[in-house]
Amino acid sequence: MLAMAKKKGIVHIDHNRCKVCGICVNICPVKNYKINQQKLKELGKCIACLQCERYCPDMALLIDIKDDKDASTG
Ligand code: SF4
Ligand code: SF4
Repeated sequence: MLAMAKKKGIVHIDHNRCKVCGICVNICPVKNYKINQQKLKELGKCIACLQCERYCPDMALLIDIKDDKDASTG
């Protein structure tokens, strides 16, 4: 099997910008988002593909990319 470069993303949601449109919920390949009581939640599974950051129409998402082997929180 191909060893994929593993990345981890720390997701920052700006709830003042997010209109809970659900685009990120649908495009995230690891299903990191869900909508709960009209609020977007993230589940800590982000692999930093950056799709959601790119496609969010309201620029409500910011992804911090971390190397998987880097266990320190900085
Ligand atoms: S795509 Fe952006 S506005 Fe839509 S639910 Fe996700 S974070 Fe909110
Ligand atoms: S960066 Fe990719 S993996 Fe992470 S939450 Fe966004 S769409 Fe999902």
